[in-house]
Amino acid sequence: MARLACPCGNILWNGCDENNPQCTFYPWEELQNHMDDLAFFELDSSPETRSLDIWQCWECDRLMVFDDPNSNRVTRWFKRVCADDFPIEKKDNPHEIGVFFNDAFFDTVCRKLDLEEGSDKYSLIGMKFDPAEKLLSPRVMMEKFFGAVNEKVRNWWLSEHYADWIVLYDAFDFGMNTPLKAWRRYKPDWSVEG
Ligand SMILES: [Zn+2]
Repeated sequence: MARLACPCGNILWNGCDENNPQCTFYPWEELQNHMDDLAFFELDSSPETRSLDIWQCWECDRLMVFDDPNSNRVTRWFKRVCADDFPIEKKDNPHEIGVFFNDAFFDTVCRKLDLEEGSDKYSLIGMKFDPAEKLLSPRVMMEKFFGAVNEKVRNWWLSEHYADWIVLYDAFDFGMNTPLKAWRRYKPDWSVEG
């Protein structure tokens, strides 16, 4: 279990089921590189895969980004801003496109699989699985969740990740035209905040 002080004064920890601050960003490019060889939920622990560990404060909605996967130090802080404040011309700047999901997404996935054929038919988090199980690979996730346009699946969003902005879009907004939520990078002043 890890703890982290948010600049708002809240203490975040990841051992709490109700308010788990852990979120993840996977670039599409990485999903496409591992369509069939890894479980979706093990991509973030695979050394050959690039993903981003992000914590979200449940009090103030700040995001804290851990750019170095081998360190537990926050490298960038982001404040929530009005989604309309995201400058559309930013889209010309280098950025990554992918999926952003929070800690509750795993349960969302299991519930949906249970309603269909059963989550126990799948290997959810690893390659060392019973051959009778199906690997919950990025390809399966694309088919069942990210490409499932006829239903709303909670706890994940389409996302753009910039050096100084994180922007989320509704799952139905494939063109990523209307920002739903946005965060802008800032430098905390710990003498005033916290
Ligand atoms: Zn906070």
